[in-house]
Amino acid sequence: MCQLLTKRVAVSALCPVCELEEETILHCLFTCHHVHLCWDRVGIGTQIPVNHNFLSWMALLFEKLEVEMKAMVATLCWAIWNARNELVWKRKRVAEISWPGFYAGDGAEQWSYPPENSVKINVDAALFDDGNRAGVGVLLRDAKGLFIEGFTRMFQEALDPALVEAMGVREALSWLKRRPRQQAFVETDCLTVVQALRSQVKMISLFGIVISECKCILQELKNVSICFIKRSAYMVAHCVVRASILHPDRSFNLRDVPTDLLPYLVAEFVG
Ligand SMILES: [Zn+2]
Repeated sequence: MCQLLTKRVAVSALCPVCELEEETILHCLFTCHHVHLCWDRVGIGTQIPVNHNFLSWMALLFEKLEVEMKAMVATLCWAIWNARNELVWKRKRVAEISWPGFYAGDGAEQWSYPPENSVKINVDAALFDDGNRAGVGVLLRDAKGLFIEGFTRMFQEALDPALVEAMGVREALSWLKRRPRQQAFVETDCLTVVQALRSQVKMISLFGIVISECKCILQELKNVSICFIKRSAYMVAHCVVRASILHPDRSFNLRDVPTDLLPYLVAEFVG
C-alpha cells in the first residue's frame, strides 16, 4: 500500500472492511472492530498494550502462548487476511454466522417460553456516562413466561462491553448456584460471550478470567444451557438494564418489582 501511494497510484489508505480507520497491519489483523470478535472467540482478545506495534505484539504473544496457540494465531492472521482479500478483490463478505461454535437454536429473533419445568434467565449489559459506568440486568422467568425474580448490578468503572456481559452471565450463574433449581436456560445477546463459553481455549485477558469462572460454575450446575439471542428478542432485559442506573444493585420479585419496570414486564407477557 505504501509503495503504491509513493508511486502515486490512487488507492485508499482506509481499511476496506470498516472504512473508518487507516489500514495498518495492526488495524487490519487485530484492532479493526470487524476482527475483534475472532480474537475474543479464541480467547486472546485485542487489548494490546500501548506502544506496541504488530511485530512487538506478536513477539509478546509468542512468548506467552503454548505451541498449539501459536499455530492458531498464525492461522487466524492468515484467515483474516484471506477474508480481507476476498472482500477487496471479489467483493465477498465472510459471514460471521459461519464461524464454528454457532449452535442450532442460537440467534432467536423472539423471546420464547422455556420448556415445561424449566426456567429462562435473560442477561443484558449496558454502558452509561460515556462508558464510565456499566450496568447488568438479569431476569428469571418460568415456563409460562411469568416473571419470578430479577436483579441489577452496577459497576462504577469503564469496562469493555463484552466483559460487562460476561460479568452479567457470571452474576446470573452465581445466583442460580445459590438457588438450586430445575433446568435453566441462560440467554445473552452477546455472541462473543457465548462462543467464549463454548470454546476450550484458555484466555489470558480479564474477559478470559471471567469466562473461566463462568465455566467453573456451569460445570457445577450441569443443567444450565447458554444461548445467544438476537437483540430484537431482548426488549424486557434491555429495559431492566437501562433501569439499573435508577435501581443499582437491587434484587426484586413480583411483589417488590420497581413500578417503572412493571409496564415492560406486562408488555412482553401480553405479547
Ligand atoms: Zn477496519
